[in-house]
Amino acid sequence: MPKQAAKYKINELRMNLAMPIERVAQYAVIGNPIAHSKSPIIHAAFAAQTSQMLEFERILAPLDGFSETVNQLISQGYVGANVTIPFKLEAFNLVDSLTERASDAGAVNTLIFNHNQIIGDNTDGVGFVHDITHNLNISFANKRVLLIGAGGAAEGVLHPILACSPSLLVITNRSLDKALNMVKKVKIQGDYHMVSVNAYAFDDLRHQQFDIVINATSTGLTDTLLPLPITIFAPKALAYDMMYGRDTPFMMQARSAGAQVADGLGMLVEQAAEAFYVWRGVRPNTQSIMQIVRAL
Ligand code: NDP
Repeated sequence: MPKQAAKYKINELRMNLAMPIERVAQYAVIGNPIAHSKSPIIHAAFAAQTSQMLEFERILAPLDGFSETVNQLISQGYVGANVTIPFKLEAFNLVDSLTERASDAGAVNTLIFNHNQIIGDNTDGVGFVHDITHNLNISFANKRVLLIGAGGAAEGVLHPILACSPSLLVITNRSLDKALNMVKKVKIQGDYHMVSVNAYAFDDLRHQQFDIVINATSTGLTDTLLPLPITIFAPKALAYDMMYGRDTPFMMQARSAGAQVADGLGMLVEQAAEAFYVWRGVRPNTQSIMQIVRAL
């Protein structure tokens, strides 16, 4: 666990941070692999749009060298970093303090280096919800939501979805015990007692239908079709795959069932915009950047 779990609310955190500095500020995204990351392009576009002076680069950390990499960046004067696969959990354990939403997610995708302290935040959940509610204009309120997957990405969006008051949230996962654990934690916390939260195995979804179906598994990477009943999509359902840059078997299956289909590119840009706001105190406009990134 982090040494001081301060659990900042995000506006308090912004007020505690130093104002943007005069010199060019250095940021990075740390991962392994990292060559594919679009974050430098997105943040360069945000910086140009908002006239912020910053540099943003990709850093490949050795699989056993995440904390050393972070310490090197701090000693070189970097002021923040994004964290991606496979280091989000390690980042959670490394930081000195956490925002509330990083604490809820159990993972960190945004680091702030402030006065020799490392603060950990998580912007994945807010980016995901913003993409669905603002960019796709679909509300979660009173909807039946199916969350497929119980890895870091699913954990990251769980609380933000519940905070939008769906009527039902079902979590399903190949390893059912992980989905059951997520439900158990939500029930123990007791913050969302108005939402019915359950976990089911893939097979047990045969007689259920959902208005929003989210694929938070990594099956898109391997072109694997999830063994889900095709009947899970309610009429006019949204099928959202967090994967981006390719049409996944999940997206193809959902389209053939008549669902509206979206990929995770909007989430990628929105989580970056939220990190940019945390670091710089300025909120970029994401619409034009989304078009640039999609055209890459
Ligand atoms: P994790 O490795 O933490 O979790 C992987 C999940 O996928 C687990 O639930 C795992 O199930 C499931 N899974 C893997 N292979 C299979 C399979 N063959 N059949 C069924 N289920 C499978 O990954 P993350 O949660 O970090 O990432 C998940 C996806 O979300 C990735 O594609 C990633 O790119 C994307 N993502 C997108 C973001 C964006 O901004 N658009 C941000 C973050 C993630 P089990 O538990 O049984 O192993």
